[in-house]
Amino acid sequence: MMHPSEFIQIRNFLDGEWQDSEQREQMPLYDPSTGKQIGQVPLSTQQDSTAAIESCHEAYGTWRCASVAKRAAFIFDMRQAMKDNHEDLAQSIALDQAKHISEARGEVQRVIQILETASGIPTLMQGETVDNIAGNIVGRVIKQPLGVFCGVAPFNFPALVFGWFIPFCIGTGNTMVFKPSPLSPYFMQKMGAIFNDIGLPPGVINIINGDHVPTLSWYDDPRVAGICMVGSSPTAKKIAEAAGKAGKRTMLLGGAKNYLVVMEDVQMDIWIEDFIHSCYGSAGQRCLSGSIVAIHEDVHDQVLEKIVEASRKVTYGSAMDPEVYMGPVISAEARDRINGMIEIGRLEDRATLVLDGRDPDMPPDIKDGYYVAPTIFSDVTADMQIARTEIFGPVVSVMKFSNLDDILANIQAQPVGNGACIFTQNLYYTEKFIADANVGMVGVNVGVPAPHPYLPFGGIKDSLIGTNKVQGKDGIDFFTQNKIATVRFSPPSAGRHRADIRTKAAGPQSSDTRSCVPD
Ligand code: NAD
Repeated sequence: MMHPSEFIQIRNFLDGEWQDSEQREQMPLYDPSTGKQIGQVPLSTQQDSTAAIESCHEAYGTWRCASVAKRAAFIFDMRQAMKDNHEDLAQSIALDQAKHISEARGEVQRVIQILETASGIPTLMQGETVDNIAGNIVGRVIKQPLGVFCGVAPFNFPALVFGWFIPFCIGTGNTMVFKPSPLSPYFMQKMGAIFNDIGLPPGVINIINGDHVPTLSWYDDPRVAGICMVGSSPTAKKIAEAAGKAGKRTMLLGGAKNYLVVMEDVQMDIWIEDFIHSCYGSAGQRCLSGSIVAIHEDVHDQVLEKIVEASRKVTYGSAMDPEVYMGPVISAEARDRINGMIEIGRLEDRATLVLDGRDPDMPPDIKDGYYVAPTIFSDVTADMQIARTEIFGPVVSVMKFSNLDDILANIQAQPVGNGACIFTQNLYYTEKFIADANVGMVGVNVGVPAPHPYLPFGGIKDSLIGTNKVQGKDGIDFFTQNKIATVRFSPPSAGRHRADIRTKAAGPQSSDTRSCVPD
């Protein structure tokens, strides 16, 4: 782990080597827990990006021909290296992204599980065959890699998004240029070292840093097969537009505004625990964070009182402090934007501000960190700005409802559709919610409905621009193209071989393998 006095110079990773950063313009890297600058990030140029594509393109020639077992072995080695460096990797996330250290450990653990899933690529990328389309014709679907992919990560999951893209991309035989968020690039510096330690061939993964500028060279470069990104919906739409014009495939996961729906038969203990985890985990900066809590009128007052009481007890402070639950938000801008939304909720929406987390008193050593404490509005309605905007902070909007259909109508009317959860023991409510909440990921008595890596992860509507979700079979499909082979075969010379086949098939067999090949 970095010593506090060490200055982190983020570098690009090209062809297996760390590039000198000094000639490039730099942007400061902050520790959101203290507000102190801890390093700097190069603002890569389009030329840097083109060099990374060139390197990936070179590497692709041999990497795609490496046996699928060999590629899977690299993924397995990556998994082992992540296990061996678990704490160091977690601390890198807790430092610049300021995800609380306990959650940062969880994020690394989840990526290890993704790598375990992706190690099964020899099985996952198997194609299909239809035998006997006609007597001597076979149809076959083969999944093949496409070339160079480019990936962009958001600030809030520097490790997870690496896991969603890179193992599936390279495991299927492609290569990747990966751009972390300039707000949380430190994890990928650690991963670059791991790529070299496990002997990954240079150019299979290149890392470039910076803002959106280096991505601009991706669209017109014919060597780039596709672009994937996780971030806000406006960014996803910009990429979709440029990539669409250039005819490139995309996998783009966007923003969210998730409902947690509490029915009158809620199991209170499960609910309270999930509420805290969903709304205040990662300081509300998750695409599956609970943002709107809709409570059935029969239990509204009781549940509101309980969540306010529980929220008051949430401890916050440095992401490195094991004694607190919640860290800061990512930047001073994010804190000011969240505080601004709280002001809008109070003054323009005229919702009731039950718990105000703005400008909490912090100890002197972290007083310049970017803290927002748990905040709760009640009497919120779906038309209010705080109910329509992704606040991306520890701010909860509480609505009262009498009929589940009304809440489902709210969810259906949302432009985004990432996750939604219901808390009930009732089978009818459960099945109705699963069927009618038009979001990509539904939770039942679960506050963060994140699917396991065996299954796809992603929303619908503006939460997913394009068709493919990440991980699971969707991930394999995105990073491969189907080739369909139709094969007609006939014996090399008439007569002789047909007799052989008939003779063979006529012998004693444990299963009936009589030939369908016509004479
Ligand atoms: P962002 O859109 O600001 O940035 C995401 C990434 O895109 C960054 O690396 C950024 O440098 C880059 N970028 C910005 N503008 C670009 C452009 N015009 N062209 C190419 N790249 C560009 O998002 P953020 O603030 O880093 O992340 C938070 C957002 O991500 C939230 O909206 C959150 O809901 C969303 N998110 C979604 C999921 C999901 O699974 N749907 C997961 C995590 C985060």
